[in-house]
Amino acid sequence: RDTIKGFLKRNLFVLFTVAAVALGVVLGFALRPHNLSARDIKYFAFPGELLMRMLQMLVLPLIVSSLVTGISSLDSKASGKMGVRAVIYYMVTTLIAVFIGIVIVIIIRPGKGSRDSPVANSGNIEPVQASDAFLDLIRNMFPPNLVEACFKQVSIFFFNNLKSLTRPQRENVNDKKHVKTHSHIEIPFIGDFQKENGFNALGLVVFSMCFGLVIGNMKQQGQALRDFFDCLNEAIMRLVAIIIWYAPVGILFLIAGKIVEMKDLAEMGSQLGMYTVSVIVGLLIHGLFVLPLLYFLVTRRNPFTFIGGLLQALITALGTSSSSATLPITFRCLEENNHVDKRVTRFILPVGATINMDGTALYEAVAAIFIAQVNDMDLNFGQILTISITATAASIGAAGIPQAGLVTMVIVLTSVGLPTEDITLIIAVDWFLDRLRTTTNVLGDSLGAGIVEHLSRAELQNQDVEGHNSVIEE
Ligand code: ASP
Repeated sequence: RDTIKGFLKRNLFVLFTVAAVALGVVLGFALRPHNLSARDIKYFAFPGELLMRMLQMLVLPLIVSSLVTGISSLDSKASGKMGVRAVIYYMVTTLIAVFIGIVIVIIIRPGKGSRDSPVANSGNIEPVQASDAFLDLIRNMFPPNLVEACFKQVSIFFFNNLKSLTRPQRENVNDKKHVKTHSHIEIPFIGDFQKENGFNALGLVVFSMCFGLVIGNMKQQGQALRDFFDCLNEAIMRLVAIIIWYAPVGILFLIAGKIVEMKDLAEMGSQLGMYTVSVIVGLLIHGLFVLPLLYFLVTRRNPFTFIGGLLQALITALGTSSSSATLPITFRCLEENNHVDKRVTRFILPVGATINMDGTALYEAVAAIFIAQVNDMDLNFGQILTISITATAASIGAAGIPQAGLVTMVIVLTSVGLPTEDITLIIAVDWFLDRLRTTTNVLGDSLGAGIVEHLSRAELQNQDVEGHNSVIEE
């Protein structure tokens, strides 16, 4: 009996969370026939909205404090090595994800034979070069005004491109015969995303890393600052421990609210259905096969035990559609359940949540090629290569907030001259795919932390012996 009790106690949160998902689904479907008004749905989903807000509230101080303490507690050589390993992991896994996406969408061909005559770029947006997207990415790494970076998600490039999308030209959309689309759906304006996220994560990540590096090397002089950020980080994690009790309630209402609100699935055309299947198959292969295999090959440990410890974070990702809002829970899962070294999580997780999005990269590649297929456009090898590169850039540039990938897809489409207003074709299912790709993103970040920790054992032990700054262990 003790073992059952012990098991229940240890897995209480996970059990609550899983129960919340099940209850959310049941409640959502039970309420659907009642045709609630938009206002009623909003009231109903209010507890979920509160969870989102609570998590988002913690993200900014969490990213800054964890990166600063994480990096300042390592010597620069150790953090350099860890950083290089993380970046290699991010690049390799993102490229594999894009590759899987491309292969699957080419095999399944969800958009085949749909238009009578090919439609060229409608010309409302200048085709952009991949280099523009990269420049913008780098530009965002260096926010000229740090205070402003805490308030605004600045992206000049995306902003300029999306301005022209705020009033989508629907004429072309309507003549797509076989693809059903909800013509009333507005393409989200970048301003909506600014409101939701509210800060330039990439810029703050770069700044916090440099800041941590500098104060880590300041010896005694930097002690006060190191103590400050360490204490701040500890305080935030204690707040996370409180919010975590509320998380199952929030998740229940987030999921139920979305099910009540969602459009009738029967409205989905067969092409859109096949497109959805392509993305899901890709994400499953990447998340349940490729990433675990990589983890196993590197660490020789059972990846599924590790994933078991992450369950709560994965479900939160599914519920919130935001890897950034999930970050506090990801921290808890990795540190408490999987016992990953705090010096690694503090360093690796905030960076991962900001730039490492395997699920998003895969989805961007599938969506772009699907749109090309709908337009009867045969892509040559060079164009597919361009899609791979821009899908990677678009996933790095996407903020960890709901449906950010849909916004950054503009750069993938324009890079190969596809009509950007065709984004409307996939909007109807995007809320759903967003949840799945966000879960994959969080999974990729977490397995990455496990892999980097394993590869960095020697440096971490060295640090233990030398007691570098000893901030964290105290
Ligand atoms: N919602 C995703 C995330 O937060 C980003 C995306 O839209 O692909 O990871």
